[in-house]
Amino acid sequence: MSDSICIVGGGLVGLSAAIALASQGRRVTLLEARPVAEIENATQPDELDARSIALSHSTLRIFQALGLWNDLQTQTAPIKHIHVSSAGHFGVTRLDAKSLQLDSMGAVIEYHVLIQQLLQAALQQESIEIISPALVESVALSDQGVNVSYERDGQEQQLQADLLVIAEGASSNLRESLGIDITTSDYHQSAVVANVRVNTPQMGVAYERFTPDGPMAMLPLIDSRYALVWTQPVAKVESLLALSDKDFLQQLQLHFGYRLGAFSEVGRRAKFDLKLSRASKLVAGRSVLIGNAANALHPVAGQGFNLALRDVGVLHDCLRDIDLTSEVLPSRLQRYQQLRKADQQQTVRLGDGLVSLFSNNLPLLNHLRSAALGILDLCPPLKTEFSWQGMGFGKGLSSLMRGQR
Ligand SMILES: Cc1cc2nc3c(=O)[nH]c(=O)nc-3n(C[C@H](O)[C@H](O)[C@H](O)COP(=O)(O)OP(=O)(O)OC[C@H]3O[C@@H](n4cnc5c(N)ncnc54)[C@H](O)[C@@H]3O)c2cc1C
Repeated sequence: MSDSICIVGGGLVGLSAAIALASQGRRVTLLEARPVAEIENATQPDELDARSIALSHSTLRIFQALGLWNDLQTQTAPIKHIHVSSAGHFGVTRLDAKSLQLDSMGAVIEYHVLIQQLLQAALQQESIEIISPALVESVALSDQGVNVSYERDGQEQQLQADLLVIAEGASSNLRESLGIDITTSDYHQSAVVANVRVNTPQMGVAYERFTPDGPMAMLPLIDSRYALVWTQPVAKVESLLALSDKDFLQQLQLHFGYRLGAFSEVGRRAKFDLKLSRASKLVAGRSVLIGNAANALHPVAGQGFNLALRDVGVLHDCLRDIDLTSEVLPSRLQRYQQLRKADQQQTVRLGDGLVSLFSNNLPLLNHLRSAALGILDLCPPLKTEFSWQGMGFGKGLSSLMRGQR
């Protein structure tokens, strides 16, 4: 096989990369361990059950450039305002799309809706072949190409490609087998995720509230629902999950307050244990790590998928106009690694810094964070800069972010 790409992992990031790289006329084979039917039928038992993803403005631009946005838009709720506060303190920051001359700062979509749409878009592309269920067991890299061994229906199979894209998620095995180390730090926190209903109309406001136990986000969803991401120390999470719906809503009301009125309904609760993990490098020979396999972040700033999509945008640019069989490929991948360093570092620092600054109850830090939120709110240039960074426009624009393929 010549001039071909193999992507391992069909999560949000692997599927997005397949669509972006196929848009350059590349032949892409995507191997996913789960049966595709499981993803296609991933509707939840009821409409309140789903993890949700806040898509930053830069992600919306990339989806527009890839022709995905029209189908997605009807299933998303726009974020018109962001309200950041610290529980029990005065400092508040309000970020506003209008002041940036934008209709929205981003949008929120349920995870299962997003992955299904991406899968449908990938299945419709003739140049993308999805093989599933297929568990990749090992890869062998050479100067000429990549040999991928995978298991399908109990049979060992092989395929050759010119470029290997590893989108296996945070616990990637191939990363380790390629000798790429990761550094991991445990936040000792879990996120309790659930969708909730309130008794007031949804006005496109996303709330980020910092509490000594951890940050809490309330993101607007379609159908007047909100997606709750409630971070708690690991020791407190099981008791929160064990509460009846009524008691859970009571606790939520107590911690979040009444700025959205009364919470009236909650869907199934799920928990995610939170760790920061970062790969020591993104590239080995003819292979490249993307998504959670490269950087898995705390969800506090809603940046994991958005950062990965910016990676996909830059990878798309770095591969433009080259023959993947040529010797140029490894140097283009090195260039990709270099270009992504600043954005990845800045995004990781932002999320990690927010968790460290706000997840405690030290009196001095209480004053400091109230002051920080207050100053940010009163200083429009600082607020504008912060907003553009949060929307994914901090470091460099790929052509997909500029609306060009
Ligand atoms: C509670 C929570 C809230 C979040 N909110 C946001 C948000 O608002 N905004 C945002 O941008 N990000 C958010 N994120 C982060 C976002 O969900 C992740 O960054 C993103 O889903 C990572 O996708 P991925 O494709 O890299 O990895 P994964 O979703 O882990 O997918 C990896 C895929 O690879 C497959 N696979 C693994 N190994 C193999 C193998 N050997 N062979 C074949 N297939 C394999 C797996 O089956 C899986 O399908 C949130 C995360 C959490 C936990």
